[in-house]
Amino acid sequence: MPELPEVETIVRGLQPMVGSRIVRVAILDSRLEIGRQLDDADADLRNQTVESITRRGKYIHVALSGGGSIVVHLRMSGRLVSHCTESDLPYVRLRLELDRGMVSFVNPRRLGTVDFSPDGFPHTLGIDPLSPEFTPDRLASLVQASRMPIKQFLLDQQRIAGLGNIYSSEALWRARIDPRRSANGLAKADIRRLHRGIVGVLQEAIDHMGTSFGVSVSDYRNAEGANGRFQERLAVYGRQGEACRVCETPISRCVQGGRSTYWCDGCQS
Ligand SMILES: [Zn+2]
Repeated sequence: MPELPEVETIVRGLQPMVGSRIVRVAILDSRLEIGRQLDDADADLRNQTVESITRRGKYIHVALSGGGSIVVHLRMSGRLVSHCTESDLPYVRLRLELDRGMVSFVNPRRLGTVDFSPDGFPHTLGIDPLSPEFTPDRLASLVQASRMPIKQFLLDQQRIAGLGNIYSSEALWRARIDPRRSANGLAKADIRRLHRGIVGVLQEAIDHMGTSFGVSVSDYRNAEGANGRFQERLAVYGRQGEACRVCETPISRCVQGGRSTYWCDGCQS
């Protein structure tokens, strides 16, 4: 958390900041993991204009007029919040002060990262599942190269960038595929359903502004600070023992690679 739909929702919420000029980069946490000297960031980025704010996988890229670039990865609990004036948000580690408002990087558990590298997105990042290049054929060539269980395969950001624990379980339920099957054992029809499951669940989750669970400071919020609504529509994730929405079989849970996987024994074989 947050995964692709949550990051996409944040990026959409930040679009009003495009075209604004950086007045100051305030780093409020000397322990913030940053890819460059802290002192340089403010001097280098000041007066540059925000040209675009885009997403690939779970990464956010802010492109600046002077060729500068800010890459943010929220990881488990980071948030980007836009606001008009000074606010009393807790755990703000970095604040981008713009001529048209502010963006605060809230990072309670210090797991999120900010990088001022001009390179943009990490080179190792896999294909974004909402890009036009993500076709059933492309997915087929990716899965054929892996013997991993399909659920763990879907979490590998170097192959497909953006899926995490929630949406990989949900996509597999939609595709009626057992998460423990090996990736290269999937048939053509499985792959077509999986492609549809991945794209479908991500788009639907974006339509509902992502998934939020609790009310803690670590929980996902959009750029305006509001909760997502997709949690009400989850079919398997976090529903162990509850009835499948299609066949009423109790939802199962297992641990794969240290992460919880949820599935329906009735629908997924
Ligand atoms: Zn079922």
